[in-house]
Amino acid sequence: MTATAPPVHRAPAPYSGGADRLPATPRWYADAGGVAAGLTLLIVTALWVGNGGLQQVGGGGADAFAAAGRLTGLWASDLLLLQVLLMARVPMVERAFGQDRLARWHRWTGFTSFWLMVAHILLIIIGYRGADSPHFLGELWDLIWTYPGMLLATAGTLALVMVVVTSIRLARRKLRYESWHLLHLYAYAGVGLALPHQLWTGTDFIGNKVATAYWWTLYAVSAGAVVAYRIGVPVWRNLRHRLVVDRVVAEGPGLTSVHLRGRNLAALPVRAGQFFQWRFLDGPGWSRAHPYSLSATPHGHGLRITVKTLGDGSARVASLRPGTRALIEGPYGKLTGESYRGGPVVMLACGIGVTPLLSLLGELPYAPGEATLIYRARTQAEIAFRAELEWFATHRGVRVIYLLGPRADRPSWLPAQHADHADAEALSTIAPWIAYSQVFVCGPEGWTDAARTAARDAGVAPENLHTELFAW
Ligand SMILES: Cc1cc2nc3c(=O)[nH]c(=O)nc-3n(C[C@H](O)[C@H](O)[C@H](O)COP(=O)(O)OP(=O)(O)OC[C@H]3O[C@@H](n4cnc5c(N)ncnc54)[C@H](O)[C@@H]3O)c2cc1C
Repeated sequence: MTATAPPVHRAPAPYSGGADRLPATPRWYADAGGVAAGLTLLIVTALWVGNGGLQQVGGGGADAFAAAGRLTGLWASDLLLLQVLLMARVPMVERAFGQDRLARWHRWTGFTSFWLMVAHILLIIIGYRGADSPHFLGELWDLIWTYPGMLLATAGTLALVMVVVTSIRLARRKLRYESWHLLHLYAYAGVGLALPHQLWTGTDFIGNKVATAYWWTLYAVSAGAVVAYRIGVPVWRNLRHRLVVDRVVAEGPGLTSVHLRGRNLAALPVRAGQFFQWRFLDGPGWSRAHPYSLSATPHGHGLRITVKTLGDGSARVASLRPGTRALIEGPYGKLTGESYRGGPVVMLACGIGVTPLLSLLGELPYAPGEATLIYRARTQAEIAFRAELEWFATHRGVRVIYLLGPRADRPSWLPAQHADHADAEALSTIAPWIAYSQVFVCGPEGWTDAARTAARDAGVAPENLHTELFAW
């Protein structure tokens, strides 16, 4: 067993758990976020009731349709703005929920607000012109041309329809990630274009000062969050730290590490286990960002990422030259040790998912024998960082267990030759103390789901189970 390891692990700074740069996320953040989201829906409903919505629905007839149409429109707008806020990279929201969870909710609120918007359009047409109108499409055309802001709202609706259609799983699989992402940005145009019709014609918007103040505040907070956190903070952070490629190291076939240096990195609020969105200014195509986790503990002197070649974006990392400027967005992700207070640690990695776990191994203050890393790969040749893992085994008493082999023919975190064991039972056999361990899981979607389920079935409490998906 060799005891050599790159300096990234050899001389860590005195352990601080990264708390000096990024304090732990209070538990109540997530609860507060959920309550605030629910509250906004209650508020818009209350404002609609205050504006006579309920009586109109009770009164029946065309007015009932119009009132129901207004309510679905208000819920659709509210969810649309919540969606914008969910993906605005607000640090409190990011740290409370993590990006993979946020992405799932974003998808759910997106589709829900879309169907509410469809209901809004249909109910409003019926309410304004009557369900028995012989020329339904003619009436729709008339509404679009007659009412202020409706042309813009129609353009906004079309933009949102395009975003929704391209987000249906079947369509999304057929699109390149970059094309899908670019089209997805049209949702901002959709939200912006829908605003004027609400401002100029919305009964629940103009008729009531409290409603006006509420909606303006929600729009301003959403737009402000996007400008501040998706543009302002990254620009400021890049100007402050000025990251450049220091050296590029081939770790193995199709696996490249990039070491970066920059200014004042001790002040970069990042913890082991987190990731950034990276852009390297190495020529055409630089504007497409890719998420890569830190593969070494950030100690304030430099950063390291390790990239497996998959497609065009990851392949160009191998040809980066020292001195190339790197732009970052982040840090993101909640696969951190912020809730770790000592005791047993079990890590499960699949393939390149080992990168954030490697950086966590360097940060967490476990005692010798307390940490276990279970590393799943298809073949010996696919195991990355063998020398560094051996260093952790020798110097910090980490148990490293390799599970090699092809995928099982059932959803499982185990390789095919061990798939006759039940998933949770196999985990408990490898780490009998799993139920009272902090468990960290990272890998592709299906495997991560199976590993999470196995950990939960083996008795791991949800608050002790930390995961990062390497796909959204
Ligand atoms: C949170 C997170 C952390 C990651 N950390 C690492 C890491 O440390 N090392 C590593 O090798 N890989 C990591 N990945 C995976 C890596 O981002 C993708 O392999 C890479 O972006 C593929 O891009 P490509 O152009 O080479 O491949 P493509 O062939 O264009 O894409 C292959 C697949 O990668 C995904 N993908 C592509 N571009 C993006 C993007 N900009 N954002 C999100 N997903 C994308 C899509 O699902 C796509 O289907 C991480 C992914 C996520 C979500």
